[in-house]
Amino acid sequence: MYYSTNHQSASLGLKEAVFKSLADDEGLFMPEYIPSLPNQFFKDIQTLTLQEIAFEVSKCLLHNEITDSKLRRVVEEAITFEAPLVPIYKGIHALELFHGPTMAFKDFGARFMARLVSVLREDEDQNLCILVATSGDTGSAVASGFLGVKGVEVKILYPSGKVSTLQEQQLTTSGQNITAIEVQGSFDDCQRMVKQAFLDSEINTKLHLTSANSINIARLIPQSFYYFHAYSQLKYLKKDIVISVPSGNFGNLTAGLIAKKMGLPIHKFIAATNINSVVPEFLETGIFKSRPSKMTISNAMDVGNPSNFSRILELYGHHKNEISNDIIGYSFTDIETQEAMKRIYQDTGYIMDPHGAVGYLGIEKYIKTQTGNIEGIFLETAHPAKFKNIVDKTLDLDIPIPDTLMDCMRKEKKAKQIENDYEELKKVLLG
Ligand SMILES: *Cc1c(COP(=O)(O)O)cnc(C)c1O
Repeated sequence: MYYSTNHQSASLGLKEAVFKSLADDEGLFMPEYIPSLPNQFFKDIQTLTLQEIAFEVSKCLLHNEITDSKLRRVVEEAITFEAPLVPIYKGIHALELFHGPTMAFKDFGARFMARLVSVLREDEDQNLCILVATSGDTGSAVASGFLGVKGVEVKILYPSGKVSTLQEQQLTTSGQNITAIEVQGSFDDCQRMVKQAFLDSEINTKLHLTSANSINIARLIPQSFYYFHAYSQLKYLKKDIVISVPSGNFGNLTAGLIAKKMGLPIHKFIAATNINSVVPEFLETGIFKSRPSKMTISNAMDVGNPSNFSRILELYGHHKNEISNDIIGYSFTDIETQEAMKRIYQDTGYIMDPHGAVGYLGIEKYIKTQTGNIEGIFLETAHPAKFKNIVDKTLDLDIPIPDTLMDCMRKEKKAKQIENDYEELKKVLLG
């Protein structure tokens, strides 16, 4: 069962927790019990592929909620790309999480959730309608993740003229079960209309609405897989493994902490942020104080009130000392980030995106404070070409855009145009 981090509403089964996304008391869902993986799993881990690890880990977490054969299908259809560990310096590796179709780590969550939702609904006639508002990246991961998934219709609202050309093409060229709705308004307007639709009883009687936002428990689970996979490749060194996670909403780090709870021997996690540093400040002072986010070059981490922080508190029973024992927090400025991008490129030829670079700075700083036997990993969460402007400017390069990203540029844009008006949205939704 899954309980709410606000403890005011009843626990639910997997299916309801996934379809609801957010609990009625506005808390986030967490598993009531996090099982440990059997010793044999860790003995054999070096012989397992990422897909096999994904199956074993999710089977352990979702025991009794879904049959093995269905789960195997979910994993095989969702995890169709690798997460290679690339050596950068002696003792520091990049775990590249950008080999999925939208070239960012959010592919893991979106693809797994899409197939899990489809399998959980197999016995129902009515299609599920996923409604999301996006300022760019979330929408493209959802569009790609849910594309062609049976029994699910996806409607994506985006603010006209306020997403990049590439993002707009990613949102509007999928076709099939994905509909883009271009709103003459801001991202906040899109989000407000989505909220209104969820509260509209007429809509809810006619459509089976749900959201696919980043706090969904089904998006968290698959983000634990690659931590096990990274460990399996370094296990033979018999060193203390430290993983630095470039963080914004802290979903990725939370998934790593869940992996640790399941028995994965990670020595420390580094919570690496840009100047939106409320979690590193909490780790330092014990006081959590959210504030409006500031814009940085690692903009997917510009979060002033990270929603998964409540999940981290729950994992540790709100014991600050235990949290600080496992997690070290550091924050870095844009200037430091760009300096690191330059330095690593000049030293090694490796091109980091600004988010990965914050992760790199985290592991570099930690290793400098230590004398122990440490092997470091940082998560490289996006392909550098996704942030081509800033990468080119920082490194004085003109990096090529991979075909995976360019494909959509050649396709025709299709979007339903609406004014910033809820009644217009409603007409589109009710078709
Ligand atoms: C979303 C995102 C992050 C932050 O991940 P969280 O789980 O929100 O902490 C980091 N890098 C990239 C490229 C992202 O898209």
